[in-house]
Amino acid sequence: DTAAEVREGLAQVVHLIRRRRRLAFDAKTAVERDDIELFWQLPQRVVPTLYRLKGSTRPLPFVEDIVVPPPELPAFLVSLQNVLKKHQVTASLYGHAGHGQLHIRPFLDLSDPEHVRRMQHLASDLYREVLNVGGTVSGEHADGLSRTWFLREQFGPLYRVFEQLKRIFDPQNILNPGKIVDSQGQSLTQNLRPVSPAGQVRDVLSDSSDPDGVLLTASTANPLVQLELNWSQNEIMQAARSCNGCGGCRSQADAERMCPIFRFAPSEEATPRAKANLMRAFLTGHLDASLLKSPAIKDLADLCVNCHQCRIECPANVNIPRLMVECKAQYVTDNGLSTS
Ligand code: SF4
Ligand code: SF4
Repeated sequence: DTAAEVREGLAQVVHLIRRRRRLAFDAKTAVERDDIELFWQLPQRVVPTLYRLKGSTRPLPFVEDIVVPPPELPAFLVSLQNVLKKHQVTASLYGHAGHGQLHIRPFLDLSDPEHVRRMQHLASDLYREVLNVGGTVSGEHADGLSRTWFLREQFGPLYRVFEQLKRIFDPQNILNPGKIVDSQGQSLTQNLRPVSPAGQVRDVLSDSSDPDGVLLTASTANPLVQLELNWSQNEIMQAARSCNGCGGCRSQADAERMCPIFRFAPSEEATPRAKANLMRAFLTGHLDASLLKSPAIKDLADLCVNCHQCRIECPANVNIPRLMVECKAQYVTDNGLSTS
């Protein structure tokens, strides 16, 4: 087709969608190279933007891989809104309408036990709506631990065939135990990352050290770690908690400038992610705070040379270098600086 014919065809499609079928209130067409590239890049830009939002409620990817038959999409979007309303949750939403795939990230605060409960109920309700229209709960990202609990219901009698195959080829259950074929499947909220000190719940009182309202935990009143740098308990907790574990910092791609230490020695403890996990474990009491001053933890902290590359490249802009300076300061406070 000529360029003019393509433009004319696109105009007709827009007219059909907007005016005749009333499926969209607006539509953008892209025929110039820059416009086309912008649209192709949009999905890659959405998620980092979400992760950079401040606040204790986070966009959580626990129902983010739903696919429904494309003709069912308009009705399913209404069902989705109803489920979100029922659980009083807002969510980000983008998708690939052509094949009916939706990336939904509800905003929840995992330091609030009520939100943790809501997470499981919301997923159950939404997944049942997916089944009602003949969709699947995992179209692209596989099932893993977080969706196995629902697969028996999704696959019905076929699930027994999965179980038989598993018994034949993996009678000892040593291949990916707990994934896809499992008598129960772990609940969605099992093994969540700790975000609050054990036994403490979210403090909803205002805090003058937290002008953006980014209040995270009650740890300010009774901190497990006495900080050496000039930042508040909420600030360090937010820094540690903002790592979502995506693994982007394990990248060794030529086009990226991720952690040089991980590139040199690619082990998990060398990753920026491991540093965030480490500090979160201390701040939430899952590791004894006295260990922060130990040589073993200093060795881990020394795997960061404070180059700030990860902070720039990380989709969530996690401030790993500052976390590691705090970690090193903890050691130096008790042990002094080495002269060697
Ligand atoms: S530090 Fe950033 S890139 Fe690495 S896992 Fe955490 S969020 Fe992802
Ligand atoms: S600041 Fe530390 S963790 Fe981040 S890229 Fe540099 S060395 Fe790696």
